[in-house]
Amino acid sequence: MNQTKFHETIREKLIREQMVEGLIKNNCLVTPDVIEAFKRIPRHAFVDKALRIRAYQDTRLPIGCEQTISKPSTVAVMTEILDIKPEHRVLEIGTGCGYQTAILALLAKKVYSVEWHPQLVQFARTTLKSLGFPTVRIEQGDGSQGWPSAAPFDRIIFTAGAPSIPEDVCYQLCDSGIMIVPSGPRQAQKLLKIKRTDTKDDVIFDVSEHGVCEFVDLVGRNGW
Ligand code: SAH
Repeated sequence: MNQTKFHETIREKLIREQMVEGLIKNNCLVTPDVIEAFKRIPRHAFVDKALRIRAYQDTRLPIGCEQTISKPSTVAVMTEILDIKPEHRVLEIGTGCGYQTAILALLAKKVYSVEWHPQLVQFARTTLKSLGFPTVRIEQGDGSQGWPSAAPFDRIIFTAGAPSIPEDVCYQLCDSGIMIVPSGPRQAQKLLKIKRTDTKDDVIFDVSEHGVCEFVDLVGRNGW
């Protein structure tokens, strides 16, 4: 697992461990490396000081620009589905405050993350730099179209809800690559896992559903 540096109080570490225990109990966290990543990333560092007291509750919190940091259980389930290996290059669409980005960065070789709002790009860059994440690259732009110049990716994760599956981004997966995307109507999206398999003469995308969820809107060309 990649290294990080940060300082915190024993109390913060303790309540984070309680959060992790709760996520394990609910079967949201299963894999040892993912559990370890959740134990190590200080979620309180990604929210406004006034909200820090709620940072380890299983709840969405505002991060500015009318956006939210996803619930820890949602981040856990999505990360588990992604099944990230240390050699993977991962694309994240919707950096937000950078919490999910940090979890991905502990598990993967390199993370590319795109965020629509310049203020959030700035916030996430500063926070991740202060925590020591050299393997993350964050750019401002329309991630609904993926990141064609850095493709292909082993894993792609959308942290905003798309009206339908962004097909062109599916082609930015490599063979055996996995993408996770919340897709469908605004209030009841389905969490979709899409696995790409290349055969001798064809490219096959296997789509499976992993429950109902509610994310902020994906905007941009493939968005709302
Ligand atoms: N994982 C993030 C979740 C943030 S919410 C976190 O932990 O904070 C989803 C984010 O997706 C928002 O910040 C929103 O601005 C961003 N977003 C929505 N549409 C986008 C697009 N087309 N390109 C890049 N980012 C987008």
